[in-house]
Amino acid sequence: MNILIVEDEIGLAEAISAILIGEHYNTDIANDGRTGLQLALTGDYDCILLDIMLPVMNGLDVLSYLRVKEIETPVLLLTARSETEDKIKGLDCGADDYLTKPFSMGELLARIRAMTRRKAISPDINPKYGDITLDLKKGEIICGTNSVILGRKEFRMMEMLVSHAGQIITKEQFVTKIWGSNDESEYNNVEVYISFLRKKLSMLHSSVTIKTRRGIGYCLDGAK
Ligand code: CA
Repeated sequence: MNILIVEDEIGLAEAISAILIGEHYNTDIANDGRTGLQLALTGDYDCILLDIMLPVMNGLDVLSYLRVKEIETPVLLLTARSETEDKIKGLDCGADDYLTKPFSMGELLARIRAMTRRKAISPDINPKYGDITLDLKKGEIICGTNSVILGRKEFRMMEMLVSHAGQIITKEQFVTKIWGSNDESEYNNVEVYISFLRKKLSMLHSSVTIKTRRGIGYCLDGAK
């Protein structure tokens, strides 16, 4: 589970991150709104913790922009006690919940669990690329009238490839996001799973292929 923390109080951001890592979440930290937005736009997060008062771009602008771009990642606003009006605006802009500072880490964790659970059961828009669609609920790839169920890791890799269509994803990115480690010994696993995915795409007679960019990573090809 990947969580983005957008918070300019560096000590607070790091304290939250340390607690989340202790609970086996992966975290990224952005200390200003624009950096936070850039990271959030990748769509790779299960939940975003978003401060309102931020340098460069405020949290509400970040949130509005994400929702305009149809990034529906659950957002938990972190607000100061004096920002009641901003809280309301935030919920209007598409925040899922808010937490008033100072908050206990126990409460933060409970909110994150609730939000990520909601996301898991809400109807998601199934990502598409070329002639394939990923069914997020069933964990399968659909191509025309054919479909095949993928293993959990295979599915997450395919999801990363589809959501970054046209971009190269490195082995390091796969290992970090899917195996939750930075261990180069996992790189072989990436190759193995890519070969599984290729077999399944060809079983489906899809025109989509996974190209290897030697020494860099992988990307999808075959969209019309
Ligand atoms: Ca702030």
